[in-house]
Amino acid sequence: MRHPLNRLVVASHNEGKVREIRALLKPYGVRTFSAAELGLADPEETGTTFAANAELKAKAAADAAGMVALADDSGLAVDALSGAPGIYSARWGELPDGSRDFGIAMQKVHNKMSEVKGVKTARFICALSLAFPANGVSTYEGKVEGHLVWPPRGDKGFGYDPVFVAHGDTQTFAEIDPEEKHAKSHRADAFAKFIEAWFPDGPIQHG
Ligand code: IMP
Repeated sequence: MRHPLNRLVVASHNEGKVREIRALLKPYGVRTFSAAELGLADPEETGTTFAANAELKAKAAADAAGMVALADDSGLAVDALSGAPGIYSARWGELPDGSRDFGIAMQKVHNKMSEVKGVKTARFICALSLAFPANGVSTYEGKVEGHLVWPPRGDKGFGYDPVFVAHGDTQTFAEIDPEEKHAKSHRADAFAKFIEAWFPDGPIQHG
């Protein structure tokens, strides 16, 4: 019998995200398409939570493509800033010309934290939503707890990685090897829950 997820569209225009999700799904025999390949538009992210935004992206893609869609919404939540930048994590790095500079976003976080002089604890959060065309949606949430450091350190990651140290680590997410980050990240946590739900028998065995 064919698996219900034998093919799906990765509802994102972020190439890094599409690549990462494709790599994660490959061992399970899922044929993936990107939103760009199918000419799908990105809907406006009007939700007030990571889950709401992941769901609206997945639903829009599933309905437009007539195919199962998987979307992810993620960001950094800082305790001393009441969870900011949160769902606005990407927007905090946005420049007037539309490009992004996370050096500026990290500086903004640092400045605001200096004003409130609170705890340094923070977490990365990821919501992963799977939507069926004209049908339901399931969402899986993952997180990784840690604290922020200043100044930024390392050049291996992206976004806020240079200021984030996971609990139990001394190096930032931009200093450790990507494989190590991918094994414990918020995205890995959300993916583990998704895989457990849809591929309980594990990866496809070859040979
Ligand atoms: P999204 O594409 O709307 O989900 O935006 C996610 C934003 O959150 C990214 O642009 C990053 O700034 C931040 N973010 C999410 N995941 C990570 C991560 O693993 N490391 C660093 N920053 C992240």
